[in-house]
Amino acid sequence: KQTNIVEALKEVITNYRLLYNDVAITLDDLEQKEYKVLISKEHFIQILIIILDNAIKYSAENKKIQLSVLKIDSYLKIKIRDNGIGIQEEDLPHIFDRFYRVDKARSREKGGNGLGLSIAKELVEKYDGNLTIHSVYGKGTTVEIDLPL
Ligand code: ATP
Repeated sequence: KQTNIVEALKEVITNYRLLYNDVAITLDDLEQKEYKVLISKEHFIQILIIILDNAIKYSAENKKIQLSVLKIDSYLKIKIRDNGIGIQEEDLPHIFDRFYRVDKARSREKGGNGLGLSIAKELVEKYDGNLTIHSVYGKGTTVEIDLPL
């Protein structure tokens, strides 16, 4: 089943804007109005929710989330960038492990059980995609979802 990624993204953004008045969510200008990807819409939305919930949970003050969509050759790159607390280099290799949570008071006090990212990664891979994370501790985190077009 094909999903128009732009439409799904806009739907989710609209809902988050309604839910969180204190979070600024932006979507960068798109080259096209429509990008169809072979993924179930429900699964794509579930992946986005996991990543956006994290972006909000792990942003202390500067709750700004920037989304962008880029077509690179035969795949689509969806980026979700936050300006939150970031992840230390030593923790980065483990964040996709089931039940792994960065053992910092700041993240421990937030609810969660460390499953979200491992589920999101598995779902993306089920559709022959890749999920990667870049983060600078104290600055913010960028999650990249690559899906074949
Ligand atoms: P849940 O299962 O409810 O999603 P969780 O957020 O702890 O709980 P994951 O989504 O798997 O679990 O994330 C694993 C860990 O990676 C988190 O505990 C957090 O420390 C770190 N992390 C994930 N996303 C971010 C982010 N955007 N900024 C900073 N740290 C993050």
